[in-house]
Amino acid sequence: MTEENKQNKQRAQEKIKLIELYRQFNGRFPTIENVWCALLQPALVAMLIFCRECQSTNFIRKVGTRKGKCQRCGLWQSLTAGGYLSNTRRPRAWLFSLNLVAEKQFFSTELVHEVVGVSQSSAAHIFKTVGFAVGTKLDEDTEQVQSSVFKEVFCHRSRETPKDKHPAEEEKYFERSENESQADANVSLPSEGAAQDEVEALKSLFATLSESEQKIARLLSSTPVHADILTRDSGLSVPLTASSLTFLELAGVAARLAGDRYVLAETTVEKNAKLRNGAADANMNSELSQSQAEVLPLFLAFCRRIFSGLSRKWLHYYLAMFSCYLDEHKWDYAAISTACFEAGYIGGRRLLNYVSPRFVRLPIQASSI
Ligand SMILES: [Zn+2]
Repeated sequence: MTEENKQNKQRAQEKIKLIELYRQFNGRFPTIENVWCALLQPALVAMLIFCRECQSTNFIRKVGTRKGKCQRCGLWQSLTAGGYLSNTRRPRAWLFSLNLVAEKQFFSTELVHEVVGVSQSSAAHIFKTVGFAVGTKLDEDTEQVQSSVFKEVFCHRSRETPKDKHPAEEEKYFERSENESQADANVSLPSEGAAQDEVEALKSLFATLSESEQKIARLLSSTPVHADILTRDSGLSVPLTASSLTFLELAGVAARLAGDRYVLAETTVEKNAKLRNGAADANMNSELSQSQAEVLPLFLAFCRRIFSGLSRKWLHYYLAMFSCYLDEHKWDYAAISTACFEAGYIGGRRLLNYVSPRFVRLPIQASSI
């Protein structure tokens, strides 16, 4: 069987499974009243919904609707206003999706769209909302890891993906924009992505250079520059420029060309880039604690199986989803629903503009799998 046939068969099986789950779900919650009751009851019991007039948490809900009457001041109001279900026209899709997460049943948004009938973007919005809400509850004590350890599953493009680049390049892009914002990284970055390795290699060299050598090194690139220009642009004296250049040449950082012109030495750049990458790989593994190292392959497999890879931008959401999957006792329906209520209104714009930070939390409850 070819790879494509295998995938098609797997997809068909997943779809059959989702159809069956949706059938069972509709059997459990046949009416809209059942749906609203299940969606709102946990929050009413936990007193997470407040009267907009008197702040009371005591409501009587009108059967079959999201409307409730405040028991203290008597005001009728929408119980979803200002919350994560604010304005939703698809309560059934929400409840079903929340239940899927609670039951550790994960499906692509494409399949949810096909089976439940919501648009794919609505399905994505629901799952991202859950990820966002659960993500706010991820244990603060969880050790953080660099998002670059997940690089191999970044394969979905987002608005953050640099043009004409593989989505995994987003990681570099984030790293770079973070470095750019740091005061000490005032290296003039070439705009071409191809020159990025040069810059990275150069940065690691800078630590070993004197201040004047750094000034000169920053001015060097693959384009030859005359020593006089380097003197002028660095603001250094002629002798200091000359001695710095001599040192850089000896250190293999700069190469001297005919006519007293200088370039960044190519071999050094390559060598240092390699060294740097090697060091980064070694760091990547030593950075992880043992339990994290055990969990990482599970998370990567989870992403590949369910989402066939993911977008770097949303990494934090997927990790939150994964923590639901790992810690099934903690993340039952009530816990997920409560987290969503506590997160408040999570607008599409807020979700859309969200970018996972460079350091994320990798859940580590591997024992409960
Ligand atoms: Zn009231």
